[in-house]
Amino acid sequence: MNISIVGTGYVGLVTGACLADCGHRVVCIDVDAAKVARINAGEAPIYEIGLPELLARNIGKRLSATTDLAAAVVASDITFIAVGTPATDGRIDLHFVEKAAADVGQALRAKRGYHTLVVKSTVIPGTTDRVVRQVAERASGKRAGVDFGLGMNPEFLTEGRAIEDFANPDRIVIGGIDSRTHAAIATVYESFAGVPRVLTNNATAEMIKYASNSLLATMISFSNELARLCTAVGDVDIADVMRGVHQSLYLTTRSPESEPVTASISSFLEAGCGFGGSCLPKDVTALTAQGKELGVQMPLLRAVLDVNAGQADEMVALVKRHVADLSGVPVTVLGLAFKPDTDDVRESPAFRIIRLLKRAGAKVTAYDPIARPTSHEDMKDVRLADSLDDAVKGAKVVALVTRWREFERLSQVLDRLGSKPLVVDGRRVLKRDQFSAYEGIGWRPTQSTASQS
Ligand code: NAD
Repeated sequence: MNISIVGTGYVGLVTGACLADCGHRVVCIDVDAAKVARINAGEAPIYEIGLPELLARNIGKRLSATTDLAAAVVASDITFIAVGTPATDGRIDLHFVEKAAADVGQALRAKRGYHTLVVKSTVIPGTTDRVVRQVAERASGKRAGVDFGLGMNPEFLTEGRAIEDFANPDRIVIGGIDSRTHAAIATVYESFAGVPRVLTNNATAEMIKYASNSLLATMISFSNELARLCTAVGDVDIADVMRGVHQSLYLTTRSPESEPVTASISSFLEAGCGFGGSCLPKDVTALTAQGKELGVQMPLLRAVLDVNAGQADEMVALVKRHVADLSGVPVTVLGLAFKPDTDDVRESPAFRIIRLLKRAGAKVTAYDPIARPTSHEDMKDVRLADSLDDAVKGAKVVALVTRWREFERLSQVLDRLGSKPLVVDGRRVLKRDQFSAYEGIGWRPTQSTASQS
């Protein structure tokens, strides 16, 4: 099939490269000419495991990038919109989607024959059928359901393992205004035999994406709320509590050989310094805003956001138990990406923590194995270290924020440097007895146990 994709970010580029690898001819469209040039040169503009190899295999053969949206749309059978949908002022900002839909519509004026337009961006329920339809019909002078198909195909990939997720999807959700649209989208995924498909209308497809992300965010905030209580009670470690919860048959089943098989969703039932990224915070925000607009109170999801925002304060409170006055104190933050194996720093909890530390007067150093967000506003007055050794040298406090594998060797690095800072474990990945001063989210010994150990 000839496919065009508007928006060549994490989703658009991964989708394009993977679909090209499946045998389709794909053109990725972006307004960013520098990004387009890099892709055409076979260079990955984002850090994603496996992407350079996919580009090397497909660029110049079945995959290319362009800024010429009209030509790419006219030459294709189906167009996916995969532009960003940020949350601005507490609600979804659709201006990128509307512009893309208008540009595609304009291009369709010049196209003979049927075309299928599919929204892949995460948009609140009703957006495809109302906003995108209206904009595309007006710009094209054509009718959805007659001259062009209109569908919604949400994306579930996870950054850091996006290629693997796209190549081995757990489900394919296909929304459409009619069966012709469903059939066109199904053809794109023809090679994904055996993957469960949900064929539905556009608004349901949109809601499935939000329901999925809201569930994950809820599980994280649930774990973090319990972690606060564990800390207050004392001598109850949230990590042990969650290990016990994970053993429930709902979460850990048995293989035919009686081996325990833990569902991967258990990884969201763990306490930490909060969720970030380009999806969970903005999607839960957008959904609660839609609820408010429609007169539906959503106290549960609003609380999910509140708990999450408070996790940065929890981290700084752990620091302040040992260092009440942070003025001029060298503090190192380990991890800037919102999760490991990506360079994406959007809405990373690291920045909330850095802001609080700077406000308290700390001299902040940050280190991330991949992300180098030098121009990020919160990086002002923050030293960006080049290595883990460089980052922790001279630090009085080290706060682990992102679960990068490299940080598991923190105790060895500190031993080698002969330094004994307070270590605050925001992801509960470190062994606390390896550090002379340790604090972790969701764990606090009572005075008596602390003096015994
Ligand atoms: P991104 O910001 O990485 O990429 C968006 C791209 O679209 C940018 O390169 C931008 O230059 C381009 N763009 C904007 N307007 C354009 C236009 N009119 N024409 C051509 N190009 C245009 O965004 P992303 O992270 O890939 O997310 C895209 C969508 O997918 C969002 O709705 C997001 O919520 C959703 N999503 C993201 C993920 C993820 O892990 N990143 C996962 C699932 C779903």
